[in-house]
Amino acid sequence: MEVTFLVDVNAVKLARWLRLLGYDAKVVSGADDNRLIALALKEGRVLLTRDTQIMLRRIVTIGKLKALLVQVDDPKLQLNQVVTAMGLSFNYGPFTRCLECNQPLVILSKEDAQGLVPPYVFTTQTEFKQCSACKRIYWRGTHWQNMNREIEQLKAETGL
Ligand SMILES: [Zn+2]
Repeated sequence: MEVTFLVDVNAVKLARWLRLLGYDAKVVSGADDNRLIALALKEGRVLLTRDTQIMLRRIVTIGKLKALLVQVDDPKLQLNQVVTAMGLSFNYGPFTRCLECNQPLVILSKEDAQGLVPPYVFTTQTEFKQCSACKRIYWRGTHWQNMNREIEQLKAETGL
């Protein structure tokens, strides 16, 4: 079964990095601990949090709710911790999930991308994807490359 996550707002940047790898990492803003726990249980998500109080809850200590305490500040190191602890893969499904809203991306034909992306991007890129929810368009541009360079670096450091 595919592992999915519920990321506490105190580790929101971690969610973006997990999405970059292709993992389903949901963030709910404005939810108190009880609601977070209920949602993670209902949807079968692993709760990722920096809140030590949640980790002391009985539902976590008896193992009914799987939760991981995120121990560092740097989102990249947080990602590293989660990948290692959960046995994830850096090659899971890159370029498949919207970094902003966690929805799967769908392929957008080059024809359909015309007029929706800057002309320079249109002529230099061949592959476009679009978020089905927020309609944001993704291509393998500078930002994406930068994030992936950091993933490559993490891979090299961890040997995973
Ligand atoms: Zn989106």
